Amino acid sequence: MNEASLAKRLLDGDRRALARAITLVENNRPEGWDLVREVYPHTGQAEVVGFTGPPGVGKSTLIGALTKARREAGRTVGVLSIDPSSPFTQGALLGDRIRLTEHFLDRGVFIRSMANRGALGGLSEAALQAALLLDAAGRQDVFVETVGVGQAEIDIIDHADTIVLVLMPGSGDSIQALKAGVMEIPDVIVINKADHPLTDTMVREIRGVLSLANLERSPEEVKASWKVPIIRTEAHKAAGIGELVSALQAHREHIVAGGQLAERRRHNLRAEVLAIATARLRRRLEDDLERDLSFQELLDQVVERRLDPASAATALLDRAAPAP
Ligand code: GDP
Repeated sequence: MNEASLAKRLLDGDRRALARAITLVENNRPEGWDLVREVYPHTGQAEVVGFTGPPGVGKSTLIGALTKARREAGRTVGVLSIDPSSPFTQGALLGDRIRLTEHFLDRGVFIRSMANRGALGGLSEAALQAALLLDAAGRQDVFVETVGVGQAEIDIIDHADTIVLVLMPGSGDSIQALKAGVMEIPDVIVINKADHPLTDTMVREIRGVLSLANLERSPEEVKASWKVPIIRTEAHKAAGIGELVSALQAHREHIVAGGQLAERRRHNLRAEVLAIATARLRRRLEDDLERDLSFQELLDQVVERRLDPASAATALLDRAAPAP
């Protein structure tokens, strides 16, 4: 398959072309980057929703139920399930574990799980390229699932238009993380397994954290800002999914009307450009250190305490990427 036909087939929504394209970017192959470059002007149409939250709260089940609802509304769906903590073999297991089996035969649903690959820029980079490919292939809804409580390592989630934090009664650590500001306030909070007796307590606790966060803003800001809805679901019974769909739509309308969608995307793309440039610069520096004898000498001087590390870094940078 040559690249031109791969790009065309991808843009036509061909599933096999999409699968192959994602493998190319996952393996950091130059053809993958070429392909993204070619199809990039066709991206920006998909509505990207990121789901984060501790393992076992029901994210996959929830995405399965949501996928069903979106398919019934006539929309095509792409799902990226990302597990940065596991080596690849477990990532493949995560693909099996994902509660989306009923969708495997539906051509309107494309599911892919990705786990850590030590490629340039790392997993979030590959995941981001994969999300662009899903978008280019015409998937109207792209759901990205990451395991974790939203710490910085999983920055793919930052590239979603809407961020959903999924919790279940008893996952108090996440509330602590929200309270401490370790975790950013999401756009929508889902409390899954809401038949649990502690659900009401949890809703109250979260409301408390959210109003605490509002204290740092002016009344005008609070009035104009998005009010984070807390949705109760029982994903395995598809209960509360209608409310979740409405909340996602309301959030999209809010950010489109207020211009935050464009702002958010600009901010995220800035971070993306910076991340790729940083990864490439780092690799160039490492290559130089490895190959260039003068850098070995520089390092020797640091080891022998004749040159301090910061001065060596300045010398390294001046040669690899001269200051203007
Ligand atoms: P993830 O790790 O967050 O993706 O969680 P999973 O979707 O794999 O779900 C973990 C377990 O919780 C599975 O056994 C699900 O069947 C179960 N589960 C999901 N949603 C609910 C729910 O609303 N209530 C109950 N009781 N169990 C659920």
